[in-house]
Amino acid sequence: MSTLLDENTATTPAKGLREGAFGNARALACRECGHEVALGPSYACPECFGPLEVAYDFPAVTREEIAAGPANIWRYKALLPVPDDIEQNPNMEPGFTRLLKAHNLGRELGIDNLWVKDDSTNPTNSFKDRVVACALSAARELDAKVFACPSTGNLANAVAAAGARAGITTVVFIPSNLETPKQVNSAVYTDRLVAVDGNYDDVNKLASEIAGEEEGWAFVNVNVRPFYAEGSKTLGYEIAEQLGWRLPDQIVIPVASGSQLTKVDKAFQELIALGLVEDKPYKIYGAQATGCSPVSVAYKAGTDAIRPVKPDTIAKSLAIGNPADGIYVLDICRRSGGAVEDITDEQVREAIVLLARTEGIFTETAGGTTVGVLKKLVETGQLDTSLETVVINTGHGLKTLDAVSDRVGAVATIAPSYDAFLASGIL
Ligand SMILES: *Cc1c(COP(=O)(O)O)cnc(C)c1O
Ligand SMILES: [Zn+2]
Repeated sequence: MSTLLDENTATTPAKGLREGAFGNARALACRECGHEVALGPSYACPECFGPLEVAYDFPAVTREEIAAGPANIWRYKALLPVPDDIEQNPNMEPGFTRLLKAHNLGRELGIDNLWVKDDSTNPTNSFKDRVVACALSAARELDAKVFACPSTGNLANAVAAAGARAGITTVVFIPSNLETPKQVNSAVYTDRLVAVDGNYDDVNKLASEIAGEEEGWAFVNVNVRPFYAEGSKTLGYEIAEQLGWRLPDQIVIPVASGSQLTKVDKAFQELIALGLVEDKPYKIYGAQATGCSPVSVAYKAGTDAIRPVKPDTIAKSLAIGNPADGIYVLDICRRSGGAVEDITDEQVREAIVLLARTEGIFTETAGGTTVGVLKKLVETGQLDTSLETVVINTGHGLKTLDAVSDRVGAVATIAPSYDAFLASGIL
């Protein structure tokens, strides 16, 4: 392979690819005009510059075949752009995280039937391990020399860890103002963590520039983005399987670039098309923090025009001011009868504590945003509380301790004696 940025113009596979390198994937198809290009390191349509996504020729897949697979995302490998022998290559084996019935939070919010999909328990404690596992497979099949990403934090953690395990050189780029835990959580896996003085959108621009100049770099969310994005589908597959092979009535999903939300919808559509679940309507809701809410603002204005913003929020993992999939999020949320909503940083902090105290789940600011938006959707009458609802927790609270460290702590500091305990008045 000459460079990972080669634009393929025909649907014959890129030279040097082994048979079945991308499993049942057929081609990369333009989301705008449908034009198809060969599977390879392409991400923009040569005809109209629209985003490319993976198109498949799925074989018949049964629930039994899936259930017989491993307890990680590879149980769905027939539905992903990965080779059949994917499990033999060193990888982080993410996924198949818990779907917990949220009785207490449901009671608190007045929702009869509420579930939390808890993706904080993935190997590097966010949902990003799913997308990185698929990007790593593509990088391997394309014979990339360097595995890289621009990141708002969690992606850098996942790329650095997966690269270490796969034994591939890893370079991760982050905004220099990132939370210390997220910096350490990357640097511990790689000696090539690069902090850039700028926001995520600046870091992303730099990554595109490097991808254009350097040969053999696989930037997970730039030039192998179509493969990366497919990893988010596994969230949708798992939720359906864990509900007993059916779709929920509605689901609340955080929005940064918007990729995850669009792929959960794609997953539900695929399950319906494959006959793995019954066809039924479902609503999709998007969650943003007010300090970076370009999609929510466009939703409320009733327009398709998403105006980029300069992020200013504690929800740094969602702080993408110019979201690549924003218009598709708007389309899906509107068409499905859902909505896009945003909440303040103060409400994000409150929601982190609310989820922790009702369900014993410590989420990061992204999950605080999602749970807080769920609460606001109920309070503003935008969400039917009688319907079965799923809310996704995408990351772990230990990554953003500062968000709540000044509002929770020891109730008293006492001498080590029973008398002192009695005197403290705690009982
Ligand atoms: C990246 C990320 C998201 C959302 O990602 P998209 O770019 O919208 O796919 C949500 N939560 C967390 C914790 C993340 O790291
Ligand atoms: Zn096109």
